[in-house]
Amino acid sequence: MSSKSEALAPVPERVERDLLDLARIRDPESGGWTRTVFSEPYRASREWVRSRMIDAGLDVHPDGAGNLVGVLHGRNPAAPALVTGSHTDTVESGGRFDGIVGVLGALELVRQFAEHDIRLERDLLVIDFLGEESNEFGLSCLGSRALAGELTAAHLDRRDYRGDRLGDRYTAFGLDPSGVLAASGWTAARPLHRYVELHVEQGPLLEERGVSIGVVTAITGIERMLATFAGRPDHAGTMPMGDRRDALVAAAEAVLAVRREGCGAPTHGVATTSRLSSEPGSPNVVPGTVRMHAEMRSVDSDWLSSAMRRLTEEIRLKAAGYGVEVEVEWSRDNERVPANPAVHDAISGAADTLGIAWEPVPSGATHDAVHMARLCPMGMIFVPSKAGRSHCPEEWSELDHIRTGIQVLGATIMELDRTHD
Ligand SMILES: [Zn+2]
Repeated sequence: MSSKSEALAPVPERVERDLLDLARIRDPESGGWTRTVFSEPYRASREWVRSRMIDAGLDVHPDGAGNLVGVLHGRNPAAPALVTGSHTDTVESGGRFDGIVGVLGALELVRQFAEHDIRLERDLLVIDFLGEESNEFGLSCLGSRALAGELTAAHLDRRDYRGDRLGDRYTAFGLDPSGVLAASGWTAARPLHRYVELHVEQGPLLEERGVSIGVVTAITGIERMLATFAGRPDHAGTMPMGDRRDALVAAAEAVLAVRREGCGAPTHGVATTSRLSSEPGSPNVVPGTVRMHAEMRSVDSDWLSSAMRRLTEEIRLKAAGYGVEVEVEWSRDNERVPANPAVHDAISGAADTLGIAWEPVPSGATHDAVHMARLCPMGMIFVPSKAGRSHCPEEWSELDHIRTGIQVLGATIMELDRTHD
């Protein structure tokens, strides 16, 4: 590691001002800090991001998929490029740091490079990815998914609860859907070297351990379950308790079974039931049919697959005890994606050289990095989230930790700039 990377001194006040300025651009009708994809506040905020990119000395290119790509030109434009970035959209009533730290942190890094006369060998692409948060079309990571060639025409045909097509939302936002699908063309034409994303942890591990840097080991796999319980609707006043086939009681047992699996997970594993819908739903009828939505997440694929088997079995057995039949369907939302070991080591090595304590951590949330990992080796740097809170107005990360994160990002980028395949 060169002494130049040790000289990088991100200016917290500058990052703070950017965080405050961007936070001002939000939906006034919603709580917290709301800037959902395709909304007017989001459109305005990205104009702001674009102008901040230009101020920082980046050459901003549209990529067809709605991503803002800022290029810091290196000495050798033919070399595969380094990539960093994240997202600036938020969930409804979200916070001011999730994703935003990765984009604004990268801009501060670019300013640091200029002020310290550091010229990289490779181009550095700073990307503000379109719509990372899951939207009403049930799709997350729109921009990075498109770059990785994983956004399909079938995705664009998805409809939200109002019956609107995703493709039409792109059009209304000023993006040509065929251009969105073709956006993977430029990543195919322009080889990428490494992807490193700075992000807030969104969980409590780093704060509990008292360290300011987390080096991500893997991004969680997500398996979603839909269980349909078929009991028998009967008169709630006349059918004796012992003769009922109550689908909702069987589903209640399943909710507790989901929780037990999550509690028994070895490393990072969680399990959540998110929705139950019961039919016919009248006050005087024993529930005949229940649909239950749940999910399990872990960075441990072996545990995940065995937990799915156990859970399916237990739900069936318990339901049978109530005379209820159940069909359990699983669908994979996200495969577990490990960080590239060499990128992981570049990040932890950078922290060591800078004398910064770090811990390996799993990511229980999904990120644009999942899709960028299809294009080149990937790694992520986490900074602590206060009390582990995220996707809420209370979401907070200390400026001091953000500054440390930018330092480690800078030293990592400089180290990866020198590595060759
Ligand atoms: Zn995020």
